[in-house]
Amino acid sequence: MNAETRPPLKAAHPAYFTETVEQVHHWTDRLFSFRCTRNPTLRFQAGQFVMIGLMVEGKPLVRAYSVASAPFDEHLEFLSIKVPDGPLTSRLQHIRPGDEILVGKKSVGTLVPDALLPGKTLWLYGTGTGLAPFMSLIREPEVYDRFDKIVLLHGVREVKELAYQDFIEKELPQDEFLGEMVAPKLVYYPTVTREPFRNQGRVTDLIRSGKLFSDLGLPAFTPEHDRIMLCGSPEMLAETKELLEGMGFEEGANSRPGQYVIEKAFVEK
Ligand SMILES: Cc1cc2nc3c(=O)[nH]c(=O)nc-3n(C[C@H](O)[C@H](O)[C@H](O)COP(=O)(O)OP(=O)(O)OC[C@H]3O[C@@H](n4cnc5c(N)ncnc54)[C@H](O)[C@@H]3O)c2cc1C
Repeated sequence: MNAETRPPLKAAHPAYFTETVEQVHHWTDRLFSFRCTRNPTLRFQAGQFVMIGLMVEGKPLVRAYSVASAPFDEHLEFLSIKVPDGPLTSRLQHIRPGDEILVGKKSVGTLVPDALLPGKTLWLYGTGTGLAPFMSLIREPEVYDRFDKIVLLHGVREVKELAYQDFIEKELPQDEFLGEMVAPKLVYYPTVTREPFRNQGRVTDLIRSGKLFSDLGLPAFTPEHDRIMLCGSPEMLAETKELLEGMGFEEGANSRPGQYVIEKAFVEK
């Protein structure tokens, strides 16, 4: 086949796979998630992020997104904010099944088990869309092999922002393949700041007051036994980092494992 008769390449840009949107779910007017096809050659670890986006005026418009699906899943899932005047999400929030999106070929990130020293309890603390990387990690068998207990803390303002709540509480513990591993070890602790709910307040306040630990029947954090992954706003990360370092926790990185790791859920511009 010569150049003239060759069909157009599906890839719109050499750094990205072109994937097809399969499902879209709008949780609130500020939050949605979607599922798309996955190129079988895309490799990532639970907790990592990739660049995703859309072709806009012939150029890729992409942003960092944590992968919310598990590394073994056939499809990819993402949880997204809708920023009304955001260059990407003002457009991305309108995607529908059948639309094409770009997914970067490279995955990176610090929220990976190898960046943590061995420990007893793994705490996954996300606010808002900071839940996304943990949706992948709570389906990663390696996490269950390494820790006795996994506590997923999700902090949001309103109850309806507790994305995937039913999946975490009901479906995952009964999953045909993962349920046996998940049910005895995974604890979910959602907390809401601006509405009445069974758990209320910011996680940092719940740590300081000790309420988090008494509610869960678990001992308070110690650098010896507890390992923590954080994903949230720059302010939440700064505050929690200060709190943890005051308790003697040391930050880890892929090259030098530690007692806690952080990833920004977004960058303030
Ligand atoms: C490592 C990393 C991982 C990320 N993973 C995700 C993810 O899984 N899901 C996701 O929705 N976003 C994620 N983001 C943020 C994402 O890259 C974009 O900022 C977001 O999609 C908005 O893009 P935009 O072009 O519409 O607006 P931008 O110009 O990128 O952002 C405009 C403003 O919107 C606010 N904002 C952006 N993202 C968020 C957010 N997630 N929550 C609350 N406020 C926000 C900030 O104030 C920001 O300054 C991640 C960012 C980083 C650095």
